[in-house]
Amino acid sequence: MADYYEIIGVAKDASQDDIKKAYRKKALQFHPDRNPGDPTAEKKFKEVSEAYEVLCDEKKRQAYDRYGSEGMHSYAGGHPGHQETMEEALRTFMGAFGGESIFEGMFGGGFSGQGGGSYGEGPSRVQPGASKRINVTVSFAEALKGVDKELSLNNYILCETCKGNRTTSSDGVKRCPRCGGSGHVFEQRGFFSMSMTCPQCHGEGEIITQPCTSCHGEGRTKQKRRVNFHVPPGIDSGMRLKLPGYGDVGIGGGPAGDLFVYITVEPHEFFERQGNDIVLELPISIGEAALGCKKEIPSFGTQAIKIAIPEGIQSGKTLRVRGEGFPSLQGSGKGDLQVKVIVETPTNLTQRQREILEEFSKLESANNFPKKKGFIEKLKDFFVGAKSGS
Ligand SMILES: [Zn+2]
Ligand SMILES: [Zn+2]
Repeated sequence: MADYYEIIGVAKDASQDDIKKAYRKKALQFHPDRNPGDPTAEKKFKEVSEAYEVLCDEKKRQAYDRYGSEGMHSYAGGHPGHQETMEEALRTFMGAFGGESIFEGMFGGGFSGQGGGSYGEGPSRVQPGASKRINVTVSFAEALKGVDKELSLNNYILCETCKGNRTTSSDGVKRCPRCGGSGHVFEQRGFFSMSMTCPQCHGEGEIITQPCTSCHGEGRTKQKRRVNFHVPPGIDSGMRLKLPGYGDVGIGGGPAGDLFVYITVEPHEFFERQGNDIVLELPISIGEAALGCKKEIPSFGTQAIKIAIPEGIQSGKTLRVRGEGFPSLQGSGKGDLQVKVIVETPTNLTQRQREILEEFSKLESANNFPKKKGFIEKLKDFFVGAKSGS
C-alpha cells in the first residue's frame, strides 16, 4: 500500500486546504466520467479517494500518521483489508465537492465542443448504436454459387437536420442542474447512500433544452434503408455475415452498430450437404447394378455429370465425382459430389419377370453372392459356440 500523502501528492504537513485541492485535482484527472471503461483510472480514482477519506479527517489522519494504514482498520468498519469500492469513492468525491460546480471546464471549456460543432461532446451524451440481427434464407443453389441479396431495413440513421447534435441551437444543450453534469446522484437508503443514475438527465449529464424538431432531440431518425450484400458461394446454415456500420446509429449521432445476417440454407429435395460435399442418392435397378451402366446426372452447373456405374456394384456404395461440391469458404478447393447408389428391388412383377427370376434363382451360384455364401451357417455356428462356451 502506497503512502496516502504520496497518492494525493502533498507533503506530510500539508494543510486541509492543500489536501482538498490536491485531491480535487487528482480525482478530476481520474474521474470515471472522464475515463470511461479505463480500469487503471478507476483504480487510481479509488486510491485517491481512499487516501482523501483518511487525510481529510484529523482523527483518522493522526491514527494513520502513527500506525500507518494498519491503524485505519478501526475506521473502516473493522474490516482488515478493506477495499475501496467505486461507490464509496464517488460518494467521497461528491461529499467533498457535491455543492460546487466542479464539472465546469471538465469537458474542455464548458460546453463549447470540439470539431466545429458547438454543442459539446459529453462522455455519455453520445452513445454507440445497437447492432442488429436479421435472418436470411437462401436456396441450396444460391449457397452453392453465391448470390446478391437486397434487404430493406428500418434503421436509425443520423438526423440530417441536426447532424446528430440533438439540437440546432447553439445554446440548446445545458449541463444538468440536478447532478452537475456527472450523470449520477446519491440517494439515502436507510444507512446507505446509493449512487443512482440522475433521474433528470438519465445519466447523460446534459439536458437538451431546445431539441431538434426532426428527431425530437435524439440525434437520429428511423428510416427505411436498402442494403445490398453478397452471399459468398459455400455459405452454410448457421453462418453469419457481418455488415459493419449497417446497424443503428446511436443516440446523439453515436457510431452505428453492425448488421449481422444469419444465414439459413433451404434443404433440397434431392441433394444433401455434408461438409463441402454434396450427397445424392441414386436409385438403380438390379439389372443395372449387376451389369453396370452409364448415367447422366443433372447438375447445378451448365452440363450434366456423366458417371459410369461399374458392374456388380452393391447397394449403398458411393461413387465420388471430384470438385462438384461446395467451394471452400476458407481459401481454395471444392468438395465432391457423392453419388450413393441404392439398388432398388423390383416390385409388381409380371408373370414373365417372375419366371425369369425364378429361373435365375435356380442358376445362381455361390460365386454370384460372396457375402450371402454360407452366411446363415456362420451365424448358426456363432450361437452354438456361444452356448457351449457358457
Ligand atoms: Zn435532429
Ligand atoms: Zn443529471
